[in-house]
Amino acid sequence: MQAEGPNSGTCCRCDLPVRHRALIAIIETGSGPGGSAYACLPCARDYAKTSLAPDWIGETIAHAEAMRLAWDEEDDGDPAPPP
Ligand SMILES: [Zn+2]
Repeated sequence: MQAEGPNSGTCCRCDLPVRHRALIAIIETGSGPGGSAYACLPCARDYAKTSLAPDWIGETIAHAEAMRLAWDEEDDGDPAPPP
C-alpha cells in the first residue's frame, strides 16, 4: 500500500491543495505510464458514492482519514504559549 504519512497535494477533482488525499482511481492508459488519481477527503467520499468508484475506495478513504487524525493532532496542536 502507501507509505506512511500524509499524502499532500492537489485534489484531482476540486483542484485545491490539501494535506490529506485518498487514492480514488488507478488510471490505466494501456500505453505509457498510467497514474493514480488522488482526491481530498470530501471529494473522495463524494466519489465513493458514484458507480465509478472502485470497490477498494473505502479502504483508501479510511487510510487518509486515519492519517489526518494522526498527523493533524501532531501538527495542529495548540500554538506555542506566549512567554
Ligand atoms: Zn477535492
